[in-house]
Amino acid sequence: MSINITDIKQFIYCPRVVYYNYVEPVPRKVTFKMEYARSQHYELNQKEKRRTLKRYDLLEGKRYYGPSVSSQSLNLVGKIDILIDTENKTGQRYFPIECKDTDGKIYSNILYQLAAYALCIEEMTNTPVKKGYIYIIPKQKAYPIVITDEQKMYVRKVTSMIKKIINEEYFPEPRSKKRCWDCEFQRYCNDCDLPNLAQIKEQDRLLINKLFNKS
Ligand code: SF4
Repeated sequence: MSINITDIKQFIYCPRVVYYNYVEPVPRKVTFKMEYARSQHYELNQKEKRRTLKRYDLLEGKRYYGPSVSSQSLNLVGKIDILIDTENKTGQRYFPIECKDTDGKIYSNILYQLAAYALCIEEMTNTPVKKGYIYIIPKQKAYPIVITDEQKMYVRKVTSMIKKIINEEYFPEPRSKKRCWDCEFQRYCNDCDLPNLAQIKEQDRLLINKLFNKS
């Protein structure tokens, strides 16, 4: 059974999400945030196909949208938002780009997702991948990201922890209970420190303002 690279991102958000995905599947709802992210990704792909690569500070190269990548040694599979093939004969040839609809803060789970793509590309092409990009959709800006050996090592570790959860049906501890308040799985975890209703309403209000750029 292969592990999806999105599982790494979810594990880093909270290991229990992996448990609910694989060991004890629960009904999932499509949240407003997820729908919004999907529509932003679709719009971005339409626009990106018409743009040059100058924004990435790269030489022009071939762009691939949503290519599948995999690592047999790690049993990992995934799809990259955009892969650029610069056709460089020396140095780095392939650059993965992950697109995000965040407000600019780049969270660690996205960095490790990029590192997982790098490991797959390295194994598939036998070429080094030490740099990628994160494209922030609301800002229409690409940020170069150095992909370190430590990040790759951590991805290997997380992959083996995910296998432990799945193979041993291991129910893990939460990464941080601060994340429970807007987690879709909170009704299945009975040990969350949830804020009171007034705090939840205030957090929802801030999120809506952020999505629609209200002050
Ligand atoms: S509710 Fe909290 S503990 Fe449960 S999966 Fe979500 S973040 Fe993790």
